[in-house]
Amino acid sequence: MKQEDGAQVIPPAHSISSAQTIPSFGLERRSVLKTLLWGSASMVAIGAFGPAALAGPATQSGWRWCGKCEGSFYGVATAGKGVCPADHHPHSDAGSGKYSQLIGEDIPKLQQGGWRWCSKCEGMFYGRASAGKGVCPAGGAHTDAGSGHYAIALGEDSPGRQGGWRWCSKCEGLFYGRATAGMGVCPAGGTHTDAGSGHYVQLT
Ligand SMILES: [Zn+2]
Ligand SMILES: [Zn+2]
Ligand SMILES: [Zn+2]
Repeated sequence: MKQEDGAQVIPPAHSISSAQTIPSFGLERRSVLKTLLWGSASMVAIGAFGPAALAGPATQSGWRWCGKCEGSFYGVATAGKGVCPADHHPHSDAGSGKYSQLIGEDIPKLQQGGWRWCSKCEGMFYGRASAGKGVCPAGGAHTDAGSGHYAIALGEDSPGRQGGWRWCSKCEGLFYGRATAGMGVCPAGGTHTDAGSGHYVQLT
């Protein structure tokens, strides 16, 4: 999130959006459990089992925007801030908002499952593309080893949600597509592209 996008107030996860009803909550609980079992020690799923979880989906905080590459990355990993395609140093969270990612699978018209965290670059990428796992700034393709199952919500700006996020078909990454500075830096070369992308939001 660019600083001009305003306040950094983070509402409780269960009050973030209007689309809180998950019909298959049993599946959701299993998904969260898998995340807890499979996730790296540095990744924490919150709101999973308490009564509050009944009011909304599980989310994971700690996600940030990188102003060097425009990408989304996990910013509180003990291993550091990953690898940025802009300079092959760690991503930067300078000026970023504080984002949370949904733990979950497809819900038609509301959110798209299949997104994964890459432990090599700390980035968020679409992990079930027929073309493969994209291009990782750390080298080779992204990896989903150890990742939770994330879903990215669809839509535009609304309270608690920042629109303008896009999927890049060149690298499979999630990036902020309406920055005045442009489309960032793609690990596949040149800038990210939003061609063919849905309109995604990030929870703030
Ligand atoms: Zn970066
Ligand atoms: Zn990667
Ligand atoms: Zn890209």
